[in-house]
Amino acid sequence: MGSLAVSRLASEETLPSVSIADQVAMIARKELAPHALAIDEGTIYPDALLRKFGETGAWGSHQPENGAADLRCAIQSIASIGEVCGATAFMAWCQNTLVWYASNSDNPKLVAKFANKFASGEILGGTGLSNPMKSFFGIEKLKLKGRKVEGGYVVRGVLPWVSNLGADHYFGTIFEREDEGGGTAKGGPDIVMFLADCANPAITLQPCKPFLAMDGTGTYGVQFRDVFVPDELILAEPAGPFVKKIRAGFILLQAGMALGLIKDCIQIMDEVDAPLGHVNRYLPQQPVQFRELHSEFEKEAMALACDPYNADDSYWRRVVALRLRAGDASVAAAHAAMLHCGARGYLKSHRAQRRLREAYFVAIVTPATKQLRKMLAGDER
Ligand SMILES: Cc1cc2nc3c(=O)[nH]c(=O)nc-3n(C[C@H](O)[C@H](O)[C@H](O)COP(=O)(O)OP(=O)(O)OC[C@H]3O[C@@H](n4cnc5c(N)ncnc54)[C@H](O)[C@@H]3O)c2cc1C
Repeated sequence: MGSLAVSRLASEETLPSVSIADQVAMIARKELAPHALAIDEGTIYPDALLRKFGETGAWGSHQPENGAADLRCAIQSIASIGEVCGATAFMAWCQNTLVWYASNSDNPKLVAKFANKFASGEILGGTGLSNPMKSFFGIEKLKLKGRKVEGGYVVRGVLPWVSNLGADHYFGTIFEREDEGGGTAKGGPDIVMFLADCANPAITLQPCKPFLAMDGTGTYGVQFRDVFVPDELILAEPAGPFVKKIRAGFILLQAGMALGLIKDCIQIMDEVDAPLGHVNRYLPQQPVQFRELHSEFEKEAMALACDPYNADDSYWRRVVALRLRAGDASVAAAHAAMLHCGARGYLKSHRAQRRLREAYFVAIVTPATKQLRKMLAGDER
């Protein structure tokens, strides 16, 4: 994958510049790869590595400057991580969305206090937007409710899954106002987007039952028991226009997870070509087809990533269509890798079966395949 050079040479004598994505790829290969199995098994949550990626600038390159933002480097970095470990690529996406929310907020106190700390990896966290994203498309109701009080809101409710969390982490999510002051022009309740502080004693992180994959991602059920959310943690109020602004970036960043995974599935197929190519060539799906798809998706993702605030409907539909195709292709590539590997890939110790389990996550994480299809059918609330 090509990469963007972000640092300039200070002088002729200094070392050649290494892009953020290249540094991320190097750390992924050397330091993440040996832990991919333990992360998959859920015995490790790689917080130290996430902070190390942050030090390279991996979580900060997409912060807006003068009203424009460029997500290319962030997507490339997630892809480099995803080539090695799908769970860590997902956590990279979580961290990047947290940065995306904070750095796009109109709340100056929040931006000053958090945006750079999230971007550097000093503070880790994620996003609880699955339920709100589903609610915007009429799939389910908002699970968090809030009421206005002096200096902020009081929030209650439960989110079933939020990832990249720990005792001192933060995540962005949305509640619906249940007090009389909140109300949209259309007569529905206002929605407010805020940062949840996991250290708040009224927030409980409940461990989830084991998953098919992603067990090392710090995923918890989150319970809000009348949590006081001060004004300084409000990301956007009302949240409707803010969600419209950040939603393309939210989805586009997920392309990195798919690109990395598909690339490794191609590598897996290539690795067994020497011993098994004479019979694998009868399989209907070959690495060459996935190489073409990968390069097509990469080109489209890079084009869309330069313009994440584009409000045209045609742009939005391209983002959703790419996301849908990338999820489908992830599952198809991992399935093909399994068939190419045969018994080798059926061993628990082989990464082909891990990639298959990870691929299903790309297809079901919000917006899931079924939601994307509903969105393309034009069914928005
Ligand atoms: C490992 C993992 C990590 C995730 N991390 C995040 C995250 O960081 N942030 C985030 O916002 N979302 C997260 N999610 C949720 C994810 O993005 C999707 O929303 C979820 O996979 C379901 O999406 P769906 O559209 O297929 O909904 P469906 O599965 O069709 O429906 C979802 C709804 O069904 C109900 N439901 C189904 N099964 C269960 C169950 N076992 N327990 C409780 N309720 C159930 C709930 O009401 C839920 O809202 C995570 C999910 C998983 C599996």
